[in-house]
Amino acid sequence: PEPDRYAVFGHPIGHSRSPQIHRLFAEQTGEALVYTAQDVPPECFATALRVFRAGGGAGLNCTVPLKEQAFEAAQVLSDRARLSGAVNTLWWDRDDVLHGDNTDGVGLVRDLTVNLEVALTGKRVLLLGAGGSARGVLGPLLAERPEAIVIANRTVSRAEELARRFAALGQVAACGFAALEGCRFDVVINATSTSLQGELPPLPDDLLAPGAVCYDLMYADVPTAFVRWGLDHGAGLSVDGLGMLVEQAAEAFRIWRGVRPQTAPVIACLRR
Ligand code: NDP
Repeated sequence: PEPDRYAVFGHPIGHSRSPQIHRLFAEQTGEALVYTAQDVPPECFATALRVFRAGGGAGLNCTVPLKEQAFEAAQVLSDRARLSGAVNTLWWDRDDVLHGDNTDGVGLVRDLTVNLEVALTGKRVLLLGAGGSARGVLGPLLAERPEAIVIANRTVSRAEELARRFAALGQVAACGFAALEGCRFDVVINATSTSLQGELPPLPDDLLAPGAVCYDLMYADVPTAFVRWGLDHGAGLSVDGLGMLVEQAAEAFRIWRGVRPQTAPVIACLRR
Protein backbone atom coordinates (compact mmCIF):
# COMPACT_ATOMS: atom_id res chain seq x y z
CA PRO A 1 0.00 0.00 0.00
CA GLU A 2 0.96 3.65 -0.48
CA PRO A 3 2.41 5.32 2.66
CA ASP A 4 0.09 7.85 4.35
CA ARG A 5 0.74 11.44 3.37
CA TYR A 6 1.33 14.33 5.77
CA ALA A 7 2.59 17.87 5.26
CA VAL A 8 3.30 21.18 6.93
CA PHE A 9 1.62 24.25 5.42
CA GLY A 10 3.09 27.67 6.09
CA HIS A 11 4.20 30.90 4.43
CA PRO A 12 7.14 31.16 4.14
CA ILE A 13 8.07 27.51 4.67
CA GLY A 14 11.52 27.24 3.09
CA HIS A 15 13.52 26.65 6.26
CA SER A 16 11.04 24.31 7.98
CA ARG A 17 12.71 21.48 9.87
CA SER A 18 9.45 19.56 10.26
CA PRO A 19 9.97 17.21 7.25
CA GLN A 20 13.32 16.12 8.71
CA ILE A 21 11.84 15.67 12.19
CA HIS A 22 8.95 13.52 10.95
CA ARG A 23 11.26 11.49 8.72
CA LEU A 24 13.40 10.71 11.77
CA PHE A 25 10.27 9.81 13.79
CA ALA A 26 9.06 7.52 10.98
CA GLU A 27 12.43 5.74 10.75
CA GLN A 28 12.57 5.32 14.51
CA THR A 29 9.04 3.90 14.87
CA GLY A 30 8.90 1.96 11.57
CA GLU A 31 5.81 3.91 10.49
CA ALA A 32 5.34 4.19 6.72
CA LEU A 33 4.58 7.81 5.88
CA VAL A 34 5.60 10.68 3.66
CA TYR A 35 5.86 14.24 5.09
CA THR A 36 6.47 17.27 2.91
CA ALA A 37 6.54 21.07 3.34
CA GLN A 38 4.25 23.23 1.23
CA ASP A 39 4.36 26.99 0.83
CA VAL A 40 0.72 28.01 1.17
CA PRO A 41 -0.11 31.74 1.18
CA PRO A 42 -3.12 32.54 3.39
CA GLU A 43 -5.46 33.18 0.45
CA CYS A 44 -4.69 29.68 -0.91
CA PHE A 45 -5.28 27.77 2.33
CA ALA A 46 -8.80 26.43 1.63
CA THR A 47 -7.86 25.23 -1.85
CA ALA A 48 -4.57 23.71 -0.72
CA LEU A 49 -6.40 21.82 2.04
CA ARG A 50 -8.91 20.38 -0.44
CA VAL A 51 -6.24 19.42 -2.97
CA PHE A 52 -4.11 17.79 -0.28
CA ARG A 53 -7.03 15.70 0.98
CA ALA A 54 -8.10 14.73 -2.55
CA GLY A 55 -4.54 13.53 -3.15
CA GLY A 56 -4.72 11.14 -0.21
CA GLY A 57 -3.54 13.44 2.58
CA ALA A 58 -4.08 12.04 6.08
CA GLY A 59 -3.00 14.94 8.29
CA LEU A 60 -1.31 18.32 8.39
CA ASN A 61 0.68 20.70 10.52
CA CYS A 62 0.00 24.39 10.05
CA THR A 63 2.40 27.13 11.00
CA VAL A 64 2.67 30.92 10.67
CA PRO A 65 0.41 32.53 9.40
CA LEU A 66 -2.17 29.75 9.01
CA LYS A 67 -2.98 28.59 12.56
CA GLU A 68 -6.13 30.73 12.88
CA GLN A 69 -7.40 29.54 9.48
CA ALA A 70 -6.72 25.95 10.49
CA PHE A 71 -8.75 26.62 13.63
CA GLU A 72 -11.65 27.86 11.48
CA ALA A 73 -11.38 24.89 9.11
CA ALA A 74 -11.48 22.16 11.78
CA GLN A 75 -14.89 20.59 12.29
CA VAL A 76 -13.98 19.08 15.66
CA LEU A 77 -11.62 20.86 18.09
CA SER A 78 -9.71 19.63 21.12
CA ASP A 79 -10.31 21.61 24.33
CA ARG A 80 -6.83 23.08 24.22
CA ALA A 81 -7.25 24.14 20.57
CA ARG A 82 -10.59 25.80 21.36
CA LEU A 83 -9.02 27.69 24.26
CA SER A 84 -6.05 28.89 22.23
CA GLY A 85 -8.02 29.87 19.14
CA ALA A 86 -5.29 28.33 16.99
CA VAL A 87 -4.67 24.91 15.44
CA ASN A 88 -1.28 23.50 14.42
CA THR A 89 -2.35 19.87 13.87
CA LEU A 90 -5.14 18.66 11.57
CA TRP A 91 -6.27 15.18 10.59
CA TRP A 92 -9.20 13.50 8.89
CA ASP A 93 -10.99 10.58 10.50
CA ARG A 94 -12.54 7.58 8.71
CA ASP A 95 -15.71 9.55 8.07
CA ASP A 96 -13.71 12.37 6.47
CA VAL A 97 -14.33 14.67 9.44
CA LEU A 98 -11.50 17.20 9.96
CA HIS A 99 -10.14 17.38 13.52
CA GLY A 100 -7.95 20.16 14.95
CA ASP A 101 -5.60 20.26 17.92
CA ASN A 102 -2.85 22.57 19.19
CA THR A 103 0.30 20.79 20.35
CA ASP A 104 2.53 23.89 20.74
CA GLY A 105 1.82 24.35 24.46
CA VAL A 106 2.38 20.74 25.46
CA GLY A 107 5.50 20.81 23.31
CA LEU A 108 6.89 23.76 25.27
CA VAL A 109 5.92 22.30 28.66
CA ARG A 110 7.41 18.90 27.79
CA ASP A 111 10.67 20.45 26.64
CA LEU A 112 10.89 22.54 29.81
CA THR A 113 9.76 19.99 32.38
CA VAL A 114 10.97 16.68 30.91
CA ASN A 115 13.96 17.47 28.68
CA LEU A 116 15.36 20.41 30.66
CA GLU A 117 14.02 19.28 34.06
CA VAL A 118 12.66 22.73 34.87
CA ALA A 119 9.69 22.49 37.24
CA LEU A 120 7.09 25.22 36.71
CA THR A 121 4.95 24.48 39.76
CA GLY A 122 5.06 27.37 42.24
CA LYS A 123 7.34 29.45 39.98
CA ARG A 124 6.94 33.08 38.93
CA VAL A 125 6.69 32.94 35.13
CA LEU A 126 6.97 35.86 32.71
CA LEU A 127 5.58 35.41 29.20
CA LEU A 128 6.79 38.00 26.72
CA GLY A 129 4.35 38.56 23.86
CA ALA A 130 0.62 38.15 23.37
CA GLY A 131 0.41 36.87 19.79
CA GLY A 132 -0.65 33.52 18.40
CA SER A 133 2.07 31.45 20.04
CA ALA A 134 1.60 33.10 23.46
CA ARG A 135 -2.09 32.16 23.27
CA GLY A 136 -1.16 28.61 22.30
CA VAL A 137 1.16 28.00 25.25
CA LEU A 138 -0.73 29.71 28.10
CA GLY A 139 -3.18 26.89 28.86
CA PRO A 140 -0.56 24.14 29.21
CA LEU A 141 1.73 26.50 31.18
CA LEU A 142 -1.07 27.29 33.66
CA ALA A 143 -1.84 23.58 33.98
CA GLU A 144 1.60 23.22 35.62
CA ARG A 145 0.30 25.44 38.48
CA PRO A 146 2.93 28.20 38.56
CA GLU A 147 2.56 30.73 41.37
CA ALA A 148 1.62 33.31 38.72
CA ILE A 149 2.11 34.12 35.06
CA VAL A 150 2.64 37.72 33.99
CA ILE A 151 2.06 38.47 30.30
CA ALA A 152 4.07 41.49 29.12
CA ASN A 153 3.41 42.87 25.67
CA ARG A 154 4.16 45.97 23.61
CA THR A 155 0.43 46.39 22.97
CA VAL A 156 -0.82 46.12 26.55
CA SER A 157 -4.47 45.65 25.57
CA ARG A 158 -3.62 42.36 23.83
CA ALA A 159 -1.92 41.09 26.99
CA GLU A 160 -4.94 42.15 29.03
CA GLU A 161 -7.30 40.36 26.68
CA LEU A 162 -5.23 37.16 26.99
CA ALA A 163 -5.12 37.43 30.79
CA ARG A 164 -8.92 37.70 30.88
CA ARG A 165 -9.33 34.75 28.52
CA PHE A 166 -7.22 32.48 30.74
CA ALA A 167 -8.14 33.92 34.16
CA ALA A 168 -10.20 30.88 35.13
CA LEU A 169 -7.16 28.59 34.81
CA GLY A 170 -4.84 30.29 37.31
CA GLN A 171 -3.12 33.52 38.38
CA VAL A 172 -2.55 35.60 35.23
CA ALA A 173 -1.70 39.29 35.06
CA ALA A 174 -0.91 41.61 32.15
CA CYS A 175 1.35 44.65 31.71
CA GLY A 176 3.61 46.57 29.37
CA PHE A 177 7.40 46.18 29.34
CA ALA A 178 7.99 49.37 31.39
CA ALA A 179 5.99 47.92 34.31
CA LEU A 180 8.52 45.06 34.65
CA GLU A 181 10.94 47.42 36.40
CA GLY A 182 11.68 46.00 39.87
CA CYS A 183 10.01 42.60 39.21
CA ARG A 184 11.86 39.24 39.40
CA PHE A 185 10.98 36.01 37.62
CA ASP A 186 12.10 32.39 37.84
CA VAL A 187 11.18 31.53 34.25
CA VAL A 188 11.04 33.99 31.33
CA ILE A 189 9.57 32.76 28.04
CA ASN A 190 9.98 34.84 24.89
CA ALA A 191 6.96 34.45 22.63
CA THR A 192 7.50 37.68 20.74
CA SER A 193 8.74 37.58 17.18
CA THR A 194 11.57 40.03 17.92
CA SER A 195 14.34 37.42 17.77
CA LEU A 196 13.49 36.97 14.09
CA GLN A 197 14.97 40.47 13.51
CA GLY A 198 17.79 39.88 15.99
CA GLU A 199 16.05 42.29 18.38
CA LEU A 200 14.66 42.13 21.91
CA PRO A 201 11.78 43.61 23.84
CA PRO A 202 13.07 46.29 26.27
CA LEU A 203 13.81 44.32 29.49
CA PRO A 204 15.18 45.61 32.82
CA ASP A 205 18.69 44.35 33.64
CA ASP A 206 17.67 42.77 36.97
CA LEU A 207 14.63 40.84 35.73
CA LEU A 208 15.99 37.36 36.55
CA ALA A 209 15.82 35.71 39.97
CA PRO A 210 18.96 33.69 40.87
CA GLY A 211 19.17 30.57 38.68
CA ALA A 212 16.31 31.75 36.45
CA VAL A 213 15.52 30.01 33.17
CA CYS A 214 15.18 31.87 29.86
CA TYR A 215 13.39 30.14 26.98
CA ASP A 216 13.05 31.58 23.47
CA LEU A 217 10.31 30.05 21.33
CA MET A 218 12.39 30.95 18.32
CA TYR A 219 15.28 28.69 17.36
CA ALA A 220 18.32 29.19 15.18
CA ASP A 221 21.70 27.65 14.43
CA VAL A 222 23.32 30.38 16.53
CA PRO A 223 22.10 31.65 19.93
CA THR A 224 19.14 34.00 19.46
CA ALA A 225 19.19 37.59 20.77
CA PHE A 226 17.00 36.55 23.72
CA VAL A 227 19.10 33.47 24.55
CA ARG A 228 22.17 35.73 24.58
CA TRP A 229 20.35 38.28 26.76
CA GLY A 230 19.61 35.53 29.29
CA LEU A 231 23.22 34.35 29.37
CA ASP A 232 24.39 37.95 29.81
CA HIS A 233 21.95 38.63 32.68
CA GLY A 234 22.66 35.69 34.97
CA ALA A 235 20.27 32.99 33.78
CA GLY A 236 21.05 29.50 35.07
CA LEU A 237 19.80 28.16 31.76
CA SER A 238 19.01 30.02 28.53
CA VAL A 239 17.81 27.98 25.56
CA ASP A 240 16.01 28.30 22.23
CA GLY A 241 12.80 26.60 21.06
CA LEU A 242 14.22 23.71 19.03
CA GLY A 243 13.17 21.23 21.72
CA MET A 244 9.65 22.64 21.67
CA LEU A 245 9.54 22.25 17.89
CA VAL A 246 10.47 18.57 18.18
CA GLU A 247 8.07 17.99 21.08
CA GLN A 248 5.07 19.59 19.35
CA ALA A 249 5.90 17.43 16.32
CA ALA A 250 6.07 14.30 18.49
CA GLU A 251 2.64 15.06 19.93
CA ALA A 252 1.23 15.52 16.40
CA PHE A 253 2.87 12.24 15.33
CA ARG A 254 1.27 10.49 18.32
CA ILE A 255 -2.16 11.86 17.41
CA TRP A 256 -1.79 10.74 13.79
CA ARG A 257 -0.06 7.38 14.25
CA GLY A 258 -0.93 6.30 17.80
CA VAL A 259 2.74 5.92 18.74
CA ARG A 260 4.90 8.48 20.54
CA PRO A 261 8.42 8.72 19.12
CA GLN A 262 11.45 9.34 21.32
CA THR A 263 12.44 12.96 21.04
CA ALA A 264 15.89 13.10 22.67
CA PRO A 265 17.77 11.46 19.77
CA VAL A 266 15.96 13.68 17.26
CA ILE A 267 16.77 16.87 19.20
CA ALA A 268 20.41 15.73 19.43
CA CYS A 269 20.49 15.03 15.69
CA LEU A 270 19.08 18.47 14.81
CA ARG A 271 21.52 20.24 17.14
CA ARG A 272 24.45 18.70 15.25
P1 NDP B 1 2.62 36.87 16.33
O1 NDP B 1 2.87 37.70 15.12
O2 NDP B 1 1.28 36.29 16.55
O3 NDP B 1 2.95 37.74 17.66
C1 NDP B 1 4.12 38.52 17.68
C2 NDP B 1 4.35 39.04 19.10
O4 NDP B 1 5.61 39.70 19.11
C3 NDP B 1 3.32 40.06 19.58
O5 NDP B 1 3.16 39.92 20.95
C4 NDP B 1 4.01 41.39 19.23
O6 NDP B 1 3.59 42.47 20.04
C5 NDP B 1 5.43 41.06 19.53
N1 NDP B 1 6.37 41.92 18.83
C6 NDP B 1 6.63 41.95 17.51
N2 NDP B 1 7.59 42.86 17.23
C7 NDP B 1 7.94 43.43 18.41
C8 NDP B 1 8.87 44.43 18.79
N3 NDP B 1 9.65 45.04 17.88
N4 NDP B 1 8.99 44.75 20.09
C9 NDP B 1 8.22 44.15 21.03
N5 NDP B 1 7.31 43.19 20.72
C10 NDP B 1 7.17 42.83 19.44
O7 NDP B 1 3.77 35.75 16.31
P2 NDP B 1 3.71 34.28 16.93
O8 NDP B 1 3.18 34.37 18.31
O9 NDP B 1 3.03 33.37 15.99
O10 NDP B 1 5.24 33.83 16.95
C11 NDP B 1 6.18 34.34 17.87
C12 NDP B 1 7.51 33.56 17.78
O11 NDP B 1 7.37 32.23 18.24
C13 NDP B 1 8.09 33.45 16.38
O12 NDP B 1 9.46 33.79 16.48
C14 NDP B 1 7.92 31.99 16.02
O13 NDP B 1 8.95 31.58 15.15
C15 NDP B 1 8.02 31.33 17.37
N6 NDP B 1 7.36 30.00 17.48
C16 NDP B 1 8.11 28.87 17.77
C17 NDP B 1 7.52 27.62 17.92
C18 NDP B 1 8.36 26.41 18.25
O14 NDP B 1 7.91 25.28 18.06
N7 NDP B 1 9.57 26.59 18.76
C19 NDP B 1 6.07 27.44 17.75
C20 NDP B 1 5.35 28.68 17.48
C21 NDP B 1 6.00 29.90 17.34
P3 NDP B 1 2.30 43.37 19.63
O15 NDP B 1 1.10 42.62 20.11
O16 NDP B 1 2.51 44.64 20.37
O17 NDP B 1 2.33 43.54 18.15
